[in-house]
Amino acid sequence: MTAAHTHNCAAVGCQKQVPLNLLMCMEHWRMVPAPLAREVNKAWRIRDRGEARTLAYQAAVAAAVKAVEAKQHRKIAERSGGQGDLLAGDDFGI
Ligand SMILES: [Zn+2]
Repeated sequence: MTAAHTHNCAAVGCQKQVPLNLLMCMEHWRMVPAPLAREVNKAWRIRDRGEARTLAYQAAVAAAVKAVEAKQHRKIAERSGGQGDLLAGDDFGI
């Protein structure tokens, strides 16, 4: 596999190289909710049939990236559970 046939995983902060016909590495693609994954695949197949389709594909990709990002944030929050990092605001200071 040469670099010309791969691109970075679309997930935020992921540097994994994936084939051009895949949006994300398997790890992140599995985090995309199934209906959204279907939408991305469908939009990918018809993405070059006009500007509206291209935009629809980009919107589906953006939604998938967002869904993965939200899941990752939740994971991080769960892992640091009890540390209070995300809830610190009100309990400190006064
Ligand atoms: Zn990835």
